[in-house]
Amino acid sequence: ALRLRDIVKTFGKVEVLRGIDLEVGRGEFVVFVGPSGCGKSTLLRIIAGLDDQTSGTIEIGGRRVDGVEPARRGIAMVFQSYALYPHLTVGGNMGLALRQEGMRKAEIDGRVSKAAGLLQLAHLLERRPAELSGGQRQRVAIGRAIVRDPELFLFDEPLSNLDAALRVNTRIEIARLHRELGASMIYVTHDQIEAMTLADRIVVLNGGIVEQVGRPIDLYNKPANLFVAGFIGSPK
Ligand code: ATP
Ligand code: MG
Repeated sequence: ALRLRDIVKTFGKVEVLRGIDLEVGRGEFVVFVGPSGCGKSTLLRIIAGLDDQTSGTIEIGGRRVDGVEPARRGIAMVFQSYALYPHLTVGGNMGLALRQEGMRKAEIDGRVSKAAGLLQLAHLLERRPAELSGGQRQRVAIGRAIVRDPELFLFDEPLSNLDAALRVNTRIEIARLHRELGASMIYVTHDQIEAMTLADRIVVLNGGIVEQVGRPIDLYNKPANLFVAGFIGSPK
């Protein structure tokens, strides 16, 4: 679904990404972990087209997307801050991007109601964001991504604003969505339990490079170096 080749990103003189190579298979769930400032969000933004890489190439669904605008990349991104429009209803928020693209109303309504069903939001479609709980708002933000029917979902710490119980529920919800939608997902988190339970593969980033990529169990049992061992929390 995604192929990154030698992605480099510099801000001024600082090289934030120093040559990232990665392939994500169709339907695969890949989790990015790494210390604050290691470049996780920058890499997601570059994949999404919200920022340009300094060099390197990106393929999504077998198609080069360098220079392609975000809405046409076949991706949808969910952020930590859900940034819903306060004056629009839940349904209005979920359908907004599709309306802006000029999709027919009947098609939009169909997609919104399907996503709302998947996310248990069907009874809340007429509410405004201020009338929702934090967890419900985050589900609306996920719904906004689902209606786009993307090839690849990008999640940047989507649960970090939720309390502990809601984090667990929403995590289980995301795992279920992944199974039901069959789409590829890249998911950034600082939470080890999220990483271990959600990931088909974990990518450990540090200082703009990939330290190790592997299945959770393999990283845990055979960390490539002390950094990975410390990060994944293996006592060995
Ligand atoms: P966190 O876990 O704290 O979210 P991160 O891994 O997502 O961290 P990034 O946000 O990708 O880190 O930032 C990587 C580095 O790039 C940081 O040193 C950051 O200060 C720098 N950086 C990010 N965006 C810009 C920008 N627009 N201009 C200059 N430097 C930037
Ligand atoms: Mg970040």
